[in-house]
Amino acid sequence: MQEAIESLVGAYSGRYLPESLARAAIVEVGRRTYSRGFVAANDGNISVRIGDDVILATPTGRSKGFIREDELVKVSLSGEKLEGLLEPSSEIRMHLGIYRTRPDVMAVEHAHPPICTGFAVAGVALDKCILAEVVMTLGAIPIAGFAAPSTQELADAVAEKVRLCDAVLLANHGAVTVGRDIFAAHYSMERIEHLAAITLVARQLGGEKLLTPRQVQEISEAQRVSGGRLPALACKTCDDASCSLGSSASERDPGESTVTSSEVTVAEDVSEERVAELVSAIREEFAEL
Ligand SMILES: [Zn+2]
Repeated sequence: MQEAIESLVGAYSGRYLPESLARAAIVEVGRRTYSRGFVAANDGNISVRIGDDVILATPTGRSKGFIREDELVKVSLSGEKLEGLLEPSSEIRMHLGIYRTRPDVMAVEHAHPPICTGFAVAGVALDKCILAEVVMTLGAIPIAGFAAPSTQELADAVAEKVRLCDAVLLANHGAVTVGRDIFAAHYSMERIEHLAAITLVARQLGGEKLLTPRQVQEISEAQRVSGGRLPALACKTCDDASCSLGSSASERDPGESTVTSSEVTVAEDVSEERVAELVSAIREEFAEL
């Protein structure tokens, strides 16, 4: 069932998810987040944009591993609760700040994966070019300065960083990832935790060997040729602070992937009712197994 929900979500990448599908997807991503140990207890939060001014978010005080679809809360972009028996996540300000800053972002995940959070606690950014997959997808992962959880200061610090990045570490706290759909945001969370683990092992073995500027250029060119988008904030190819994939980073307009909200519409050929039918058919089919 999980794969079926994921592929249905993929068909809506970059657009608003129908509500029934958004509910099923948040529950599934919450289950993955908890089972992978990316959060402890009731930590972490997940949200999805489902309309021009409607965000569906996890509630406060619930383990992400066991949330139910009817516990999710709808809020407006200004933070007004629109629907739900429970209160929205205590970090909802951070999510809303991201949605207001990045109209192209359709989902946000916040978690505390232990290894990348260790980097955030140590004040060490994951911004070196060491893995082709990261060069092509996330680029540099900066650290937003410390602000207490749930505050507007934290929301503002993250919103500023997320202008150019899809993944940000939060000093002495955790990580935030965003995406054009909820699984893209979750896979970025997996990717930074994996990158942090590899970086940690490499440093225990004497230090990572950075990709050279030429190698990074080749990787970037391959990504361009295949039609993929390059991250707006490129990783650094050497230890010199001024050295980054500077030339190609400046060529890229950080706003180029941004779409206006008026361009974002639910698929015209598939009604919301049809998607709800598909979601419940998927549930029934898998309930029989
Ligand atoms: Zn947190």
